[in-house]
Amino acid sequence: MNVAILGAGQLGQMLALAGIPLEIRPFFLDPQPEAPGSRVAPQLLADYTDHAALDQLARDCQVATFDFENVPVEAVNHLARRIPVYPPPRALEQSQDRLREKTLFRSLGIPTAPFQAVDSLAELEAAVSRMGLPAILKTRRLGYDGKGQAWLRDIADCAPAWHRLGGQDLIVEGVVIFRRELSLIAVRGRDGQQAFYPLVENQHADGILRLSRPATPDAALQAQAEHHGQRLLEHLDYVGVLALELFDCEHGLLANEFAPRVHNSGHWTLEGAVTSQFENHLRAILGLPLGETTTVGCCAMRNCIGNLPELGAVLAIPGAHYHGYGKIPRPGRKLGHITVTAPDAAALAARLQALDALLGDRLAPDT
Ligand code: AMP
Repeated sequence: MNVAILGAGQLGQMLALAGIPLEIRPFFLDPQPEAPGSRVAPQLLADYTDHAALDQLARDCQVATFDFENVPVEAVNHLARRIPVYPPPRALEQSQDRLREKTLFRSLGIPTAPFQAVDSLAELEAAVSRMGLPAILKTRRLGYDGKGQAWLRDIADCAPAWHRLGGQDLIVEGVVIFRRELSLIAVRGRDGQQAFYPLVENQHADGILRLSRPATPDAALQAQAEHHGQRLLEHLDYVGVLALELFDCEHGLLANEFAPRVHNSGHWTLEGAVTSQFENHLRAILGLPLGETTTVGCCAMRNCIGNLPELGAVLAIPGAHYHGYGKIPRPGRKLGHITVTAPDAAALAARLQALDALLGDRLAPDT
């Protein structure tokens, strides 16, 4: 089976690698020369909206998917008129606009932070007066890793924030107090079968994900998250892996956003779950039975941001698995990740501490 993947970033690379033992032949389309995925599968070097390139993919492949959510919807729709594209283009479209995404959550009864679209400085000031401070002004599109955002702590912050981000469609959100950030990695097959990984606890620094690990099991919280996930999957008639980002608040879970793709907070599943999110995504889009989503021992994932630790030093840590993306180092850039597995929580903590010493960017006291 030949699978077209729009986007040959690290997620594409890991999808392709998961597909090879299943006799899947991946083909990438990415305008970026020498993208990470090109190291493991052929890459068509063209713009996403290049119809000739899309038509070639449609001729060569039986199904298509994508590895990032800002792939132009027009490109995906062009492909979808020729071969099946999963996740469905509609899910991609909803996820690209924070207003549509949050409105969808609301319509499905999935709680969110208070939010409102704002089209002028006066509207922003009125919204903030109503919602209260602090609040966050966000671009509706193309924001990631905390980019395209301005925190508003005082009404006087509105004007400079508006001038910095204005000229784009914007949304303002009330700041919610959360205990921690969680994500739910969900998967739905072509036949409607669903599976959920254990909730993942995520820690960020400077707006970038640094550490993810399965949260201590909490059946009620897991059920609440899966209820929200199920609503979303069924409403979108979704096929593939979907990541739902959540805030764990005093009165329950609030949804922040969803990604219609495999997700950084699910990388630990490569070694820490019976079936990885990458394999399950492929199984789902190809109409194959989904794999088990349970954990294997204890596991955590650390991102390598801006620089990569020395390979030999990482591999000297028991249970450490090195995943490099072949990217040129740049501050703030995700260059790779390291999964650490261990038989128990104490061993995992000790191994993460050893890894911390190599990475040199300490995070939370318990890591
Ligand atoms: P986002 O780009 O929406 O994923 O936001 C990036 C980060 O900003 C999140 O991971 C949170 O840490 C924080 N954040 C975003 N929205 C809110 C909110 N409404 N209340 C509190 N923190 C938020």
